Amino acid sequence: MQGKILIHHEKCKGCRLCMTFCPKGCIRVSAKLNAKGYAYAECDPDKPCTGCGTCALMCPEAIIEVYRE
Ligand code: SF4
Ligand code: SF4
Repeated sequence: MQGKILIHHEKCKGCRLCMTFCPKGCIRVSAKLNAKGYAYAECDPDKPCTGCGTCALMCPEAIIEVYRE
């Protein structure tokens, strides 16, 4: 199964839980800061997202949307 995620960057607190729990290493820390001053989570386009949904479940801010193809 293939998937992709959408992270609402501006609401990210940079806690990194999504990165810690993604089994495929698909999420990385951005080089930039959002308006709140956090280095936010972003997708790594070179890693294969399976659409498992773990990142969305773990995010305490509930700002990750998962799409399965
Ligand atoms: S849906 Fe699964 S594979 Fe895709 S980024 Fe989230 S945790 Fe990683
Ligand atoms: S778990 Fe949510 S708040 Fe934490 S870094 Fe990931 S997207 Fe941002």
